Amino acid sequence: MNTDHNCIFCKIVAGQIPSRKAYEDDEFLAFHDIAPWAPVHVLVIPKDHIPTLADTDPSQHAGMLGRMLALAPRLAKEQGAHNGFRTVINTGSDGGQEVYHLHMHVIGGPRPWAKG
Ligand code: 5GP
Ligand code: ZN
Repeated sequence: MNTDHNCIFCKIVAGQIPSRKAYEDDEFLAFHDIAPWAPVHVLVIPKDHIPTLADTDPSQHAGMLGRMLALAPRLAKEQGAHNGFRTVINTGSDGGQEVYHLHMHVIGGPRPWAKG
């Protein structure tokens, strides 16, 4: 397992920075975003330090990426996003990535600004 001691998400995995956890297993951690965009906003990360989606290799990481995506509906349901959600992976500077440890946003829940 790769770890970067300067990476804030590796520090969250190690328990050196507190987080509000939503899910954990041997491979992944999910925790609530510190600055949520919506009522449900969870970040799912592999515990392995991989900087970006562009650093993944299909022959090595396809299974992990599939398992990460497969966690989204379960987490959305558990967190109360019953009417849909978005999954977002920002990649690199043009992709708006701020934290260089691969993560998937799961964003949903009731939208007070939406009609009906
Ligand atoms: P990015 O733009 O890299 O896809 O998103 C990074 C996300 O991580 C942002 O939504 C930001 O609010 C969140 N974030 C940054 N630092 C922390 C932190 O220390 N704790 C938590 N829970 N979220 C963080
Ligand atoms: Zn990291």
